[in-house]
Amino acid sequence: MHVTAIIAAGGSGTRAGGGIPKQFVQLGDGRTILERSVAAFIEHDRISEVVVALLPETPVDLGRAIASGRLRTAIGGARRQDSVANAFDAVSPASEVVLVHDAARPFVSHEVISRAIDAAAAHGAAIVALPVTDTVKQVTMEDGRRVIAGTVPRESIFLAQTPQAFQRAVLAAAVSLGRGGAEATDEAALAELAGYPVHIVEGDADNVKITTAADLERARARALPAAIARIGTGYDLHCLVEGRSLIIGGVEIPFERGALGHSDADVACHAATDAVLGAACLGDIGGHFPDTDPRWKGVSSIELLRQAVALIRKEGYEVANVDVTIILERPKIAPYLPRIRDGLAGALEIAVDCVSVKGKTNEGVDAVGRGEAIAAHAVALLTGNHF
Ligand code: MG
Repeated sequence: MHVTAIIAAGGSGTRAGGGIPKQFVQLGDGRTILERSVAAFIEHDRISEVVVALLPETPVDLGRAIASGRLRTAIGGARRQDSVANAFDAVSPASEVVLVHDAARPFVSHEVISRAIDAAAAHGAAIVALPVTDTVKQVTMEDGRRVIAGTVPRESIFLAQTPQAFQRAVLAAAVSLGRGGAEATDEAALAELAGYPVHIVEGDADNVKITTAADLERARARALPAAIARIGTGYDLHCLVEGRSLIIGGVEIPFERGALGHSDADVACHAATDAVLGAACLGDIGGHFPDTDPRWKGVSSIELLRQAVALIRKEGYEVANVDVTIILERPKIAPYLPRIRDGLAGALEIAVDCVSVKGKTNEGVDAVGRGEAIAAHAVALLTGNHF
């Protein structure tokens, strides 16, 4: 089924603040209210195309949505119904169901859009609406004061939201009635006037219309990315043999033996790299930098740690801190710890006081304790902002 969404963005109200129409105000994620509203429909798998009705010469960047090839613009009118009528003229002839949505409702959900499409396809016309939970009073004016005239059964009251959805012929009749002089604040009212039953489907309390400055503040807070933290661990061990250099955290330490491996066998860097990758669920050092790949032959492990940091940055993370424990029987590494920390901090691109390196022995126990191997454990904390 071919479904078109019309987004009415022709409003010029600046009541929400900023001196510009509210649909062009940016929310916390850097996107405007209009961009979010458009994205909700463009990204919906059942929407074939989106037509946005805009006032001429409004500065609007819908580049990404337009690039999708499924978005067109129409000229907005003085009234909402004029904007919708202009947009309706631009709707593809193939469209069977047409939705109309307020640009100022950027938090419309996938489910709400689906419910509106289904109901219009089944019944001809439907709007999403919310039942009223408060008691509803009818009020009259007496001597300039508001006085209750009666209590309205709230079961009979619903608050209209958008999208409002119509089979093409129903919206055509509503638009034509509006062009003939009928006035209404929404398309459902015109469809009612045209004699079509308009059904109600369940709306969503989060599908708010941003109208006042207070609405805008709430919307901004809601669109802010959530700060998150993720933790990862790493472990590494290499045999100690004669004829090899002992490299720890990029620092060459004078000793009669060194760690055996294809690379420089730097346990501190390898454990830290696995901790960083692990925190972002990005696999491990062997997967990213296999020793069978000539690109990594002879590369310093400090460079591999640097590459791992670049990978987690692509996912929107930064390293907050790293803590490494190196376990070896001999030599004493305490004199080298400041240089090891400096080297790791450089590769991680964080301050040296965010990099801890500790040395331990294994009390003569096991291969590490007998001096046959060197091992390291690392923990890394990543922070990021995710939507
Ligand atoms: Mg290793």
